[in-house]
Amino acid sequence: MTHVPVHVEVKEPKAGGEKSKKMHSQVVIIGSGPAGHTAAIYLARANLNPVLYEGMLANGFAPGGQLTTTTDVENFPGFPDGVRGPEMMDKFRLQSERFGTKIITETIVRVDLSQRPFKYWTEGEEEEQDFMTADTIILATGASAKRLNLPGEDTYWNSGISACAVCDGAAPIFRNKPIAVIGGGDSAAEEATYLTKYGSHVYVLVRRDELRASKIMAKRVTTHPKVTVLWNTVAVETKGDGDLLQSLVVKNVKTGETKDLPVNGLFYAIGHEPATALVKTQVQVDEDGYIQTVPGTAQTSIKGVFAAGDVQDKRYRQAITSAGSGCMAALEAERLISEEEAEDENIPTDKVHVPTEGYMGADKE
Ligand SMILES: Cc1cc2nc3c(=O)[nH]c(=O)nc-3n(C[C@H](O)[C@H](O)[C@H](O)COP(=O)(O)OP(=O)(O)OC[C@H]3O[C@@H](n4cnc5c(N)ncnc54)[C@H](O)[C@@H]3O)c2cc1C
Repeated sequence: MTHVPVHVEVKEPKAGGEKSKKMHSQVVIIGSGPAGHTAAIYLARANLNPVLYEGMLANGFAPGGQLTTTTDVENFPGFPDGVRGPEMMDKFRLQSERFGTKIITETIVRVDLSQRPFKYWTEGEEEEQDFMTADTIILATGASAKRLNLPGEDTYWNSGISACAVCDGAAPIFRNKPIAVIGGGDSAAEEATYLTKYGSHVYVLVRRDELRASKIMAKRVTTHPKVTVLWNTVAVETKGDGDLLQSLVVKNVKTGETKDLPVNGLFYAIGHEPATALVKTQVQVDEDGYIQTVPGTAQTSIKGVFAAGDVQDKRYRQAITSAGSGCMAALEAERLISEEEAEDENIPTDKVHVPTEGYMGADKE
């Protein structure tokens, strides 16, 4: 999660805002990956009738998010034999539905977070008067790994090409095989070092003649006996036998020389793009576009708007951490709603059910 302190702009709760004639919800979740569905499960079980927009190929992903594009997930607890990514996300969806989440297969194209209740619009219903409203919103729109779209890449994606060493590095197809990593920053250095545990050798392709990585990471990678840095080098094509990746065509950008580099793995480490186009001018984001949350919480810079999953996490980017932050966002939204309901009914605050504190053990004897 982001660890940059953010200023929380406290807006008057639900002050004078207009409620939609079409649909008003206490809580709307935007996004259908592990973060969104975990939030939905908690909120539905708390009888808050969450509405979850799963998107229509939003940000290039099918409902269910990034894991719908992978084969085996082997590091999500509870699945000792591993599970196919799409199957796991079907299970998340079923669990959301089981407790009453209203799942809508539409993409949110616009939000107005300037006052509560917040307004939002779905694709195809974009006239000013078409808005719907929500007292709280959980942003769980995810992220996507940057790719180079090299020739052959679609054929060998998940069959040798990946963008996540922690997720895929241990797969049998990479064991004791040569692997290439593309990128020159800290993530590339980290991924390359990590992959030395599995591959026979790791080549790091760096476009320039220096690494952007921090000194310590750069030293670790350049001095590692199982790593060779190929300076001034880019990949121009991926090749294989039709099933699995077998080599890369690489080019020296200084000399123009091209050659085949036999590798069975290619890991992109050239950054991720958080899906924040919807909100980046309204909530505080960092220099890379990730939503900033108050450290240790899912609270964004706007009261009532929470963020969970990869859209606010440039560090871990895992299904389990996304699910964990989805849980945090749900408990925080529930807590806010409970407190505001109590205020509306003039109930003393010490009589309010405050789930976040309860779960953190604050009300244990
Ligand atoms: C190929 C691959 C393999 C991976 N393998 C593993 C692994 O083995 N283990 C692991 O822990 N992690 C793995 N990851 C990482 C993991 O998938 C992510 O960390 C996780 O999916 C992030 O979850 P999320 O809920 O934040 O969002 P995402 O999974 O990104 O889902 C977000 C969803 O929200 C939808 N959405 C976006 N914008 C809108 C909108 N405006 N309106 C409505 N819907 C919207 C998108 O369409 C998408 O379906 C892998 C990732 C990839 C790409």
